[in-house]
Amino acid sequence: MAIEQGQYFDDSEVAPQHVRQEYQRRKLAEALKYAYLHSSSARNLMDFVGLEPSPNITVEDLERLPIIRKTDLIEMQKANPPFGGLLAIPQDEIERIFVSPGPIYEYQPSGIQWFARSFYAAGFRKGDIVVNTFTYHMSPAGLLFHEGLRQCGATVVVMGTGNTDALLQTLLDLRVNGFLGTPTFLMSVIKRAEEMGYNFSRDFALKKTWFTGEMLPPSLRKAFEENYHLSTSQAYAVTEPGGAIAYECQEKSGLHLLDDYIVEIVDAHTGRQMNPGEVGEIVVTPIHNRSWGLIRFGTGDMSTLITEPCGCGRTSYRISGIVGRAGDAVKVRGMFIVAKQAEQVMSGFKEVSRFQIIVDREDDRDDMRVKVELKNDATDRNQLANEISEKIQNICRVRPDSIEFVEPGTIPERRKTIEDLRKWE
Ligand SMILES: [Zn+2]
Repeated sequence: MAIEQGQYFDDSEVAPQHVRQEYQRRKLAEALKYAYLHSSSARNLMDFVGLEPSPNITVEDLERLPIIRKTDLIEMQKANPPFGGLLAIPQDEIERIFVSPGPIYEYQPSGIQWFARSFYAAGFRKGDIVVNTFTYHMSPAGLLFHEGLRQCGATVVVMGTGNTDALLQTLLDLRVNGFLGTPTFLMSVIKRAEEMGYNFSRDFALKKTWFTGEMLPPSLRKAFEENYHLSTSQAYAVTEPGGAIAYECQEKSGLHLLDDYIVEIVDAHTGRQMNPGEVGEIVVTPIHNRSWGLIRFGTGDMSTLITEPCGCGRTSYRISGIVGRAGDAVKVRGMFIVAKQAEQVMSGFKEVSRFQIIVDREDDRDDMRVKVELKNDATDRNQLANEISEKIQNICRVRPDSIEFVEPGTIPERRKTIEDLRKWE
């Protein structure tokens, strides 16, 4: 399923690097000026650091602005609801509003497309039947990916998350040849098919896969490609600044950045820009439209910038894969768990004196367990465990795999609310 060299979504993918840089510099200046004029929070921040929205503004000038993280966004929106002073278009021009964990409200104006380049690079074309297993509910994933696939001409099966058996039946009945989802989910689907007695490569038509939402470990990629003869591709997307940030080409050596964002790799503590090759936090400023006053959004994901040319011919810079997380928001099975939010949920349980969430990796799947210390041993543990699981799922949108009651004093007083023990190798 190799994708031929020299196939690009459009010519801008091979535009000379200096053309890209000039385009981005101009769009950045325009975006900052627009945000200054139309978003109260952007104006306040720029005034605070004395940054004037001039046409000569450069990417280096961004260093003067603070990084806005998920937790800041939650606070900003709480203080100034619903959009935290970031709304920069008339409300009646909003096409959709998404609700991310936090909660964070994000809006999308009409006519925005981001994902088509990524799907094109992954080989999706007219004639393909692609199942989209990302949720169409609340989050942008389902709808935005759907639209991107349509731009490549593919037919989309509106699946959403959920039932593995129903998905298997659909894959068979419709002779689906493309899959969008998380790698963990696809592997669980394949394993289920094997349990049911199928030979996955022989009995199913699936050939092309595209992943996002969690990292694709090299071992899992190898299994998909070598054991099941699937082509694999992945993209890096971040909801808050608006979607697709980077996508993989057939070289699979880093993810190409889209021109619609200024992506800085920075020291997570100082906000200073790092040199290519150095590990830092991915910080994103959307410059593609005049709709969102969000400047310097800190993703919490750590990566490096690659400036060497890519063998595929695309001229954009790349980022390496995600090498870790900065800060306290941890991604579990594609969803961020924010420490503050988890604390809020757990503070509702009067029986609990202390807790800690442990995230680990078991059999190629994220495993989340909640350690709990009780105030009073007479509590009905089973019932409490169920209530905690349900509440965490409702609010944080990831169901814990287990609730573990531990002896008082086991969880240190100064602990990380969420301990991420996963190693990506
Ligand atoms: Zn490439």
